[in-house]
Amino acid sequence: MQGFGTTIFAEMTALADAAGAINLGQGFPDTDGPTSVLDAAVDAIRSGRNQYPPGPGVPELRAAIAEHQRRFYGLEVDPDREVLVTVGATEAIAASLLALCEPGDEVVLMEPYYDSYAASVALAGATRRTVVLRAPDFRVDEAQLRAAFTDRTRVVVVNSPHNPTGTVLSRDELELVVRLAQEHDAIIVSDEVYEHLLFSDGPTGGRHVPVATLPGAAERTLTISSAGKTFSVTGWKVGWVHGPAELVDAVRAVKQFTTFVGSGPFQPAVATGLRLPDEVFTGLAHQLQGKRDLLCGALTDAGLSPMVPDGTYFVLVDGAPLGYEDGLALCRDLPRLAGVAAVPVRVFHDDPEAGRSLVRFAFCKKDEVLHEAAARLSRLRRG
Ligand code: PMP
Ligand code: GLN
Repeated sequence: MQGFGTTIFAEMTALADAAGAINLGQGFPDTDGPTSVLDAAVDAIRSGRNQYPPGPGVPELRAAIAEHQRRFYGLEVDPDREVLVTVGATEAIAASLLALCEPGDEVVLMEPYYDSYAASVALAGATRRTVVLRAPDFRVDEAQLRAAFTDRTRVVVVNSPHNPTGTVLSRDELELVVRLAQEHDAIIVSDEVYEHLLFSDGPTGGRHVPVATLPGAAERTLTISSAGKTFSVTGWKVGWVHGPAELVDAVRAVKQFTTFVGSGPFQPAVATGLRLPDEVFTGLAHQLQGKRDLLCGALTDAGLSPMVPDGTYFVLVDGAPLGYEDGLALCRDLPRLAGVAAVPVRVFHDDPEAGRSLVRFAFCKKDEVLHEAAARLSRLRRG
């Protein structure tokens, strides 16, 4: 694992804490999620659900995941054979790649990519092949994606809505991925942790399209999500993976020896969350869309050009107008210079030039915090 030092999130949060800066780097909300979900966790702890949960996850959570997939997407999922609860989406991703890949296999990623993908590919002894999503639109280039697939491709990882760009992949782009996976007999690992954070003015009108709903995809797709973003409980680390039973069996075989089980009392609480009315889910997206507009407006007023996202709670900005061609250097200076922390995009790239001067701000914060952060950034520009 040489080359995988401290994650950028840990580095930038430590810098923010040391400088007393507003942390718009690591993505986590500064408010808690629905009270009923929090209460359900307290109840679970008080009622003695504090020992090892069953290996696949507590039955009511697996049932709630299957119900959620039917309610929002019309997907039929068998909660007993096709669902596995994991320690966050992070474990679902790692265990899936460890289960599916042998040394020498190749994994196709879209860069910039969430950092744990590259680490998990390395842990599996596999090789990553990437296709670059380029600013400012971050669309998938068909020829380049096609070129990333070879006869050694075992897995293609999809992440829509996409961290860090906030891009929502179109149905055409997702269909292309499915077609290439079919041609190369590859498995699709679809990271959908931002499935409820899509904005109504995006290309799909705020509707999430799970890869597994596309024709020919379900039988070769592992769908991954997590409670962290949807219920603003990133520290609970309750995630899940669902897909064909034999693939989920393979992931469970790995998971037994990574964590075995986890997050016992939080699992029934997440089941409560997944069964909340539709308005809770749409309300979160609506609220975040307002925060997106607030921060993007303030960044524009400060003379920066935000790349307005269609989903997630992240927005990218080019740091060049602040005098930095290197986003990493900017992020290392920013907490001290401006009292705000961000994360550089270039660390999520293999291509050294792509995303070089881009930085990512998280807007899952109270409005007054976003206003204050924007005011600080605008002062920085005036120098
Ligand atoms: N995938 C993506 C794209 C993410 O942004 C994150 C993190 N926040 C994760 C996976 C990890 O999710 P979890 O915290 O549930 O492990
Ligand atoms: N997923 C969050 C982000 O992208 C944080 C993840 C982490 O700290 N590892 O900011």
